[in-house]
Amino acid sequence: MINASNAAGEAPVYSLVIPIFNEEAVLPLLVRRITALLDKLDASAEAIFVDDGSRDTSVIFLRGMAASDPRLRLIELSRNFGHQIAITAGMDAAAGDAVVVMDADLQDPPEVVLDLIAKWKEGYEIVYARRTKREGETLFKRASASLFYRALEQMTSVTIPRDVGDFRLVGRKALETFKQMPERDRFVRGMFGWMGFKQTAVSFERPERAAGETKYPFWKMLRLAVHGVISFSDKPLRLALWSGLAISCFAALLGVYALFSWLFASGVVHGWTSTVMIISFLSGINLFMTGIIGLYVGGIHAEVKRRPLYVVDRLTGFEEAVKAAAESRSQPTASPSTRDRRFG
Ligand code: UDP
Ligand code: MG
Repeated sequence: MINASNAAGEAPVYSLVIPIFNEEAVLPLLVRRITALLDKLDASAEAIFVDDGSRDTSVIFLRGMAASDPRLRLIELSRNFGHQIAITAGMDAAAGDAVVVMDADLQDPPEVVLDLIAKWKEGYEIVYARRTKREGETLFKRASASLFYRALEQMTSVTIPRDVGDFRLVGRKALETFKQMPERDRFVRGMFGWMGFKQTAVSFERPERAAGETKYPFWKMLRLAVHGVISFSDKPLRLALWSGLAISCFAALLGVYALFSWLFASGVVHGWTSTVMIISFLSGINLFMTGIIGLYVGGIHAEVKRRPLYVVDRLTGFEEAVKAAAESRSQPTASPSTRDRRFG
């Protein structure tokens, strides 16, 4: 059943945002489950798929779907920009009053969206889905995730709820706030934690990926974790300061000790071992601290370039107004002529 008002171009009440990166194995099932969900919703809705530079047949499949069902839309990014930016691109284009972000692999079950909506109707601006059980994920992934959330809680001044990924519903107010946050280093779950509003959680059991393989190998997880800490906490910088100070005091005491032994202990050539140990220890600490500072400097460097967050290659299934909105973020200084070229 296709919602008539939506087909006529009226703004949808609900928007689903689904990032896609090489998901051809799961797409047919995903689209079936998503359209079934759209049918069940009590008001008009759209589903926005954001292709994050897939190198498989995902795009071809999605173009066909978006052309055949007016509720399905597709944003094709010009290359792989990463999960967090793909989410941002979809949210920028979302026209609904409530916007739900979910993974493509059905680990975020579409049925849970009904629970999220129920809470939103109770007046919550942000409703996140909390994983109570994580099936089919390695012990390492579960342990590292749990450790990371705990460490992050200790290190940041923002409350970032535990065991919560990017599966959440946000209302218009939260969405507009999100759109005003220009940072490139996007740790989306932290950004929603930061903005406040009335927030609540809905629990669900996280099933296994329906098909295909994880698109979050270890190094990508680590990068996300580092971004999370760096963009929400300045504790590592303070760590550099205080541990640097503590080590300098220690080194000063050693220096005094060395001076006294030179003055009062006679003739023994010793100290080579300790010298080497101290030098290597201090240079190690030095490099580590420089590295921490480098992470922040790198962040500043990325921010000052002020490049567009992402580049849209092609849109399918969007109204003109939505295209313009997506474009204004993707390329803030675009002139009318570039607009014609890019969407022509
Ligand atoms: N994803 C993306 N760009 C990327 C990596 C992942 O858009 O560079 C999407 C992916 O298609 C999926 C979601 O992000 O919809 C979460 O990825 P995945 O399920 O592989 O992560 P995991 O659940 O294993 O942490
Ligand atoms: Mg997954």
